Amino acid sequence: MSTTDAVAETSGQVALPPGKLWIEGAWRDSTGSERRDVVDPATGRVVTTVPEGTVEDVDLAVAAARRAFESGPWATMSPRERGAVLTRAAQLIQENAEELARLESLDTGKPLAFARMIDAGTTAEHFSYFGGLAGAIEGATRGIRGPGLAYTRREPLGVVGAITPFNFPMILSTSKIAPALAAGNTVVHKPAEDTPLTALRIAELLAEAGLPAGVLNVVTGHGAVAGDRLVRHPDVDRIAFTGSTKVGAAIAAAAAANVTPVTMELGGKSANIVFEDANLDEAIQAAVSGFVFNTGQFCMGGTRLLVQRSVYDQVLAGVIGGATHVPVGDPLAEGTVVGPMAGQRHLENVERYVALADGGPNGKVVAGGQRIDLNGGFFIAPTVVTDVAPDSRLVQEEIFGPVLTVQVFDTEEEAIALANGTPYGLAAGLHTTDLGRAHRVAAQLEAGMIWVNTYGVLDVSLPFGGYKASGYGRENGPEALDEYLQTKSVYVAF
Ligand code: NAD
Repeated sequence: MSTTDAVAETSGQVALPPGKLWIEGAWRDSTGSERRDVVDPATGRVVTTVPEGTVEDVDLAVAAARRAFESGPWATMSPRERGAVLTRAAQLIQENAEELARLESLDTGKPLAFARMIDAGTTAEHFSYFGGLAGAIEGATRGIRGPGLAYTRREPLGVVGAITPFNFPMILSTSKIAPALAAGNTVVHKPAEDTPLTALRIAELLAEAGLPAGVLNVVTGHGAVAGDRLVRHPDVDRIAFTGSTKVGAAIAAAAAANVTPVTMELGGKSANIVFEDANLDEAIQAAVSGFVFNTGQFCMGGTRLLVQRSVYDQVLAGVIGGATHVPVGDPLAEGTVVGPMAGQRHLENVERYVALADGGPNGKVVAGGQRIDLNGGFFIAPTVVTDVAPDSRLVQEEIFGPVLTVQVFDTEEEAIALANGTPYGLAAGLHTTDLGRAHRVAAQLEAGMIWVNTYGVLDVSLPFGGYKASGYGRENGPEALDEYLQTKSVYVAF
């Protein structure tokens, strides 16, 4: 099927990819007949359907990826030639950024302005950054004891299985696909059930950029079927996973049967600490955006605010004011900051947590908490909860919605203990004007990403990943390439 056929269906102002799988450089029907609705979370309306990929579909995709790895031109291209294809992909993504942003907004409910600036922009950056790094993949010579020459080679792994969540579909798929391809691997991608649209369109754009057939394949479908087959497939050489800690643990256990290595980008429950010497206006702004961004469906969301006692009342009042006034509404409307939750089940999950805040250990709601009735969409008001016990469910468990708990502390030591007091360790923020304190506390926080006097800013050059139950392995930066390469030592005797 041609690209023109691919955009035959339209929804509003955006062309939709055809409801097919992308295997070996072309649209393919699934071997099965089951389909899944793709729903616009801002209206609850079904916009299209995609195949529920089967075990056989995954097997076909993995076989195509294996052929492309072993005998296709990708395997024999120089790293710089591969880099050039990825750089062209970055350019094409930029040229099609508006369309990609609209698809992403339609699929997830995120405000279009953010989808343009953050999602489409970062996706293009993944390809330009890793396209640039491809040519710098190199081994080293080593000073061995005996006579001879020894050197290392950095080699691709083979077929990478990428499994991604619903909250940042394009960013979290291309943060795997771009470095995996730069390193010379081929990929089979299984996007989240509910948000497959940009994955399909990006596969088509990459083909246009010159990616040979079979190097990237996309199988939509259910985690327990298509995802599970990818994880257990004996011909997959690495699994790159982003998603919940529960599913990640199950995937790591399943992959262990074939000794398949895994990268795990998992859940979070990140602390955001405000010391009494902070610039409070900036800290309040960061605290609000740190938990409402992407409607709280944000792995690194600063969902636990820790405030020093002397400024607690002032900061809480500022946060309640900010959370109450943040514009919630139609993702396509100008000025919207918070859209709907990405799906009905996500909304209901958040409501279950908010209902626990009944004045007991899970605290009490002091702002938000209620659904917002708008166009049949899945909207909820940003919610602030105080008087929570450190070991309560609202403090310990990832809610994945716009819900902030606020706790008070007296000393630096207490703030660090509270911040580190959950099983998670993805990120943390701290606000202070004391330089020594900033570095001292940053060093003691058990998290893979620390922000000082800001919150939630990422950069493609900076490695990102979790400590503790937030996972292992890193995305972004040169460290991401290491996940997709293996090292061979060659010893040549004289
Ligand atoms: P999820 O774990 O439910 O699903 C993630 C993916 O795994 C989906 O594609 C799903 O289909 C697939 N899957 C489910 N069961 C599977 C199985 N048995 N075998 C193989 N694949 C399976 O996560 P979600 O609800 O889509 O996303 C939210 C979660 O993702 C949150 O916990 C969030 O913190 C986390 N997340 C982490 C990061 C990070 O960088 N650490 C970034 C974004 C989201």
